[in-house]
Amino acid sequence: MRKLSAGLVTLGLTLSLAACGQSANGAGGKGSEEAKGGLVGIAMPTKSSERWINDGNNMVKEFQAKGYRTDLQYGDNVVENQVAQVENMITKGADLLVIGAIDGSSLTNVLQKAADAGIPVISYDRLIRGTPNVDYYATFDNYKVGVLQANYIVGKLGVKDGKGPFNIELFAGSPDDNNSAFFYNGAMSVLKPYIDSKKLVVQSGQTSLSQIATLRWDGGLAQSRMDNLLSKSYTTARVDAVLSPYDGISIGIISSLKGVGYGAGRPLPVVTGQDGELASVKSIIAGEQTQTVYKDTRQLAKAAVQMGDALLTGGKPEVNDTKQYDNGVKTVPAQLLQPVSVDKENYRKVLVDSGQYTADQLK
Ligand code: BGC
Repeated sequence: MRKLSAGLVTLGLTLSLAACGQSANGAGGKGSEEAKGGLVGIAMPTKSSERWINDGNNMVKEFQAKGYRTDLQYGDNVVENQVAQVENMITKGADLLVIGAIDGSSLTNVLQKAADAGIPVISYDRLIRGTPNVDYYATFDNYKVGVLQANYIVGKLGVKDGKGPFNIELFAGSPDDNNSAFFYNGAMSVLKPYIDSKKLVVQSGQTSLSQIATLRWDGGLAQSRMDNLLSKSYTTARVDAVLSPYDGISIGIISSLKGVGYGAGRPLPVVTGQDGELASVKSIIAGEQTQTVYKDTRQLAKAAVQMGDALLTGGKPEVNDTKQYDNGVKTVPAQLLQPVSVDKENYRKVLVDSGQYTADQLK
């Protein structure tokens, strides 16, 4: 019903614009895509991380190339901002919403308004929870992100080959982001057997998701937590590895470690990350951060735009997972892309050869 009415809204918009002899094309009107038109509201969580800036820009480019107009907004990691921005998009007559949620469970009311107006919704990267009014989900294999981080740690330390015991500390993402549990569960599927057999020792004893979470993925908070861990549990013991779920958090952890002398005299521990952000790739090249998990946001933007375009033109969105992403009300059909582990050995191949960064940017 909702999709049908969304289709009618689009058709109505296209017809009325055609009648006035106007183009709904935000990209300057090219070729046969021109008549499509329609306004796409894109709500992204924050500009404080490079990846979301790229996500937003990539989607704008891709939607505009297909003849849509776009309204791109960033919520500054403040939930109320994002709710107001989405409300505004609905008022402006958006035909489609693509949302990278700040807090996955705070959009229920505003998405009811979207549904009442017949606007389809794509959950972008992070699953929107607790509402029936989310149609599709474009993301990466989030469980695998955690598996890649943890596999890297056990491989690098040599625990896999029987070495150890080693000391490890664990960090997780924001508790209001559905991805955090996926990353954590993926990582723990690899780490837990070694923790149970005491080949990996968490000296702080903090291993549950709630104990290790980092609200809003804040690198400063992670740095303070690492400071505490170091002063309480590592006055004599050495940290050999830190599971970090995101590059911004890794940067905070590494500053804390350097503050007590790691990296000068005694080596830094193995530190993972996620996103392949420029500062972290440079840190990997400089031998500080050890690994990151790269997720090609150009491909994610393409996947979301394919879904959105299909929804607005009566086509079929591509999905490859209809089981994993239960948002508490429904299982949201998802398109999962593949994350890639990156370190000093393969960054050129994965990041430079693919055109993500130029060799110059990494100098
Ligand atoms: C994304 C990660 C990102 C994190 C912090 C997660 O939802 O999937 O790619 O590192 O948010 O922005």
